[in-house]
Amino acid sequence: MANFGYSLTKSSRIDLNNRNIEKWNRLVELEPDVLKCMACGSCTASCTAGKFTKTSLRSAILYLQNGQEKEALEYIQSCLLCGKCFMVCPRAINTRHLLLSISKIYSNR
Ligand code: SF4
Ligand code: SF4
Repeated sequence: MANFGYSLTKSSRIDLNNRNIEKWNRLVELEPDVLKCMACGSCTASCTAGKFTKTSLRSAILYLQNGQEKEALEYIQSCLLCGKCFMVCPRAINTRHLLLSISKIYSNR
């Protein structure tokens, strides 16, 4: 195949009919407030770790909803559990507790 010096990027299309959301359903059972998230991004904007890493609870929640576990965990692996996002969340989601539950359910350890 000819090398044109560029390539097509991998499709980011998600097949919503075939996503694996078993763990997401377990998370919702444990943390029903996660359904209140309106993806406003306040948590990400105020995140202590976000200034130095790609930490974003908002992105993590969106990826988890789509069954994209690996991508989601990348966005919270550097979380310091400081709880700052809890103070700014307009939906009063206990984000710190949510982060711990995500770790509990999605951790392979
Ligand atoms: S608890 Fe984690 S996600 Fe929330 S502000 Fe602190 S470092 Fe960021
Ligand atoms: S601040 Fe709360 S409602 Fe907004 S994206 Fe973060 S978790 Fe969701």
